[in-house]
Amino acid sequence: MPPAPSIAGSAFEVRTSVIDFTLTDENRLVQQSVRAFAEAEILPHIREWDEKGEVHREVFERMADAGLLGAPIPEAYGGAGMDYVSFAILCEELERADTAFRVVQSVHVGLNSLALLQWANEEQRRRWLVPQARGEKLATFALTEPGVGTDAANLQTTARRDGAAYRLNGQKIWISLADLADHFLVFASVDRAKKHRGVTAFLLERGMTGLTTGTLHGKLGIRAGNTGLINLDDVVVPEEHRIGEEGEGFLVAMSAIDQGRFTVASGAVGLAQACLDASLRYAHERRTFDQEIGKHQLVQQMIANMAKGIEMGRLLVWRAAWLKNQGLRNTRETSLAKWHATEHSVQAALDAIQIHGANGYSNEFPVERYLRNSKAAVIYEGTSQLHTLIQADYALGYREDRPLRCEAWPAQGWERGNPRRDGVARGS
Ligand SMILES: Cc1cc2nc3c(=O)[nH]c(=O)nc-3n(C[C@H](O)[C@H](O)[C@H](O)COP(=O)(O)OP(=O)(O)OC[C@H]3O[C@@H](n4cnc5c(N)ncnc54)[C@H](O)[C@@H]3O)c2cc1C
Repeated sequence: MPPAPSIAGSAFEVRTSVIDFTLTDENRLVQQSVRAFAEAEILPHIREWDEKGEVHREVFERMADAGLLGAPIPEAYGGAGMDYVSFAILCEELERADTAFRVVQSVHVGLNSLALLQWANEEQRRRWLVPQARGEKLATFALTEPGVGTDAANLQTTARRDGAAYRLNGQKIWISLADLADHFLVFASVDRAKKHRGVTAFLLERGMTGLTTGTLHGKLGIRAGNTGLINLDDVVVPEEHRIGEEGEGFLVAMSAIDQGRFTVASGAVGLAQACLDASLRYAHERRTFDQEIGKHQLVQQMIANMAKGIEMGRLLVWRAAWLKNQGLRNTRETSLAKWHATEHSVQAALDAIQIHGANGYSNEFPVERYLRNSKAAVIYEGTSQLHTLIQADYALGYREDRPLRCEAWPAQGWERGNPRRDGVARGS
């Protein structure tokens, strides 16, 4: 039986720090500029795009022009060197407008570019990370398969050695940006009997023979975003496209997901904030029984629950950001932030519709879109059931974080002022 975890040794140990919730000038600048971007580029069109299921790649191009596709990537690799609180604010503001535009942060930045920063070698970072961080190439992350989601160690896509290359065969499904991306971080097994120890990561490029993509239609939400599939039909992948060692792919995927979940959690706070904003507006305007509905205590209860859940979510996200800024492991804290924020955002969207009455049931108001969008986030990047198990396992001492061969990078600004980070492994 594993030893009972002590409070001092747990991930929730209080680390020495002065807690300061004041936003820095940089945090505020990011908030203002991303909000302005969303108000100009997304909000005037989103109802129509959502209704028609239209994906507008030019918005991603404008995000690239605004430096939003490499925000937390160090300047040396073409990014903006942003700290993780700023990055959380960026994701929150994008999803406050629409989930589809936060999703690009999750897959292009969180799951792909930050994984390359952590696990790719220098040559690979120059070749793939730099154009991604500059927004010249769009990237995604392909783990899920038709038969495998939560049980990701059980991948059926195979990578068979063939001289100095691998041959990849299989299918990936439910992949965000599948039909738009230029680069794909694909996971395949070199030996299925080895389960997670056989999983290996590869960076594939559009145009490789045997790699084709398609779009999934009929989604409940995120209709302004592309979700699709990738077919791998004997794709010859030179070994210099392998990210990390053979059999190290599961660790690459899980550390990438620590970054992706952070963007999902931050975005869910933004979606819940949008629910609250819409509900406050409506509660002041709509009158029943000779008073605005905001005066009714049962409406106030829904408003108060929204405000409570948003604040809790934001605090959990910012704690994860504080750990990330220092390059410290944050799997437990990020999972908790993602679990809480996404579950809360679904409830916030349900309550926002309730506050709007029949009007909430129509796309004349944005709250029905918020509900349809919110539901995906309690499924991807770990279902709520998986996060329940993760939190229980940490609490019971059944799970602990082991050091990785390549640790996550601290935020650029933090690294400059923090000699404690010297000597941390930075990939091969
Ligand atoms: C809009 C959207 C975008 C996505 N984008 C991407 C992407 O870009 N890249 C990518 O790789 N994937 C992506 N996904 C896929 C997503 O990560 C998976 O859907 C998710 O991991 C769940 O897998 P699954 O759908 O196969 O469900 P399953 O694993 O089949 O689970 C089905 C149900 O069983 C429950 N369950 C499973 N195992 C357990 C257990 N041990 N204990 C208790 N309950 C359990 C689950 O919680 C769930 O309720 C996306 C999904 C959506 C909806």
